[in-house]
Amino acid sequence: MGAQHNQDTATSRMRLLHNEFLQHPRTAPDGPRARTVTAGTPVNLAVVDHIAAAVTEVAEHTRSVNPDAGPLPPDVADVYDWYRQHTAHADDIQRQRGETIVYRQRLEHAIAMGDDSVIPPHRCPGCNTFSLRWRRELQRALCTNRRCLTRHGMSRTWTLARLAYEHVAVEKMSRECAT
Ligand SMILES: [Zn+2]
Repeated sequence: MGAQHNQDTATSRMRLLHNEFLQHPRTAPDGPRARTVTAGTPVNLAVVDHIAAAVTEVAEHTRSVNPDAGPLPPDVADVYDWYRQHTAHADDIQRQRGETIVYRQRLEHAIAMGDDSVIPPHRCPGCNTFSLRWRRELQRALCTNRRCLTRHGMSRTWTLARLAYEHVAVEKMSRECAT
């Protein structure tokens, strides 16, 4: 465990996102409504909101497990290490909930920067194949397997929260099988 800054983690994704904002600071959107400047480059106000919401969510979870967690680290990207340090004694359910939040945020950070490549490595929870593609307009992952349909004959779609939940549950299962 601990810092894994060279790998693709929520921490590394948060750092990328935060650096993106610091390198291109902008205090107001260009137009009457927030818009994407070029594909994948989010308006920085949205990045600020995104980062703040992510930190708040991790902090609230951490403090619900450990009310004595104390102040947040000065560097936002350290929030995930901070969470792990202060929840080392969490029970299984708390830990699974926390890891699901962190994993979902890793996906959210990637997608906020226009990197949809984090989606296809997940199996579809409906048909168990690697057929998922991100659909920005839906803000959900859509299964492209033509046989994977809802009762109404529509393609199935999944939230990032569901994909994160499945990922953490499968990891937990494989850990338990390995021991
Ligand atoms: Zn499917």
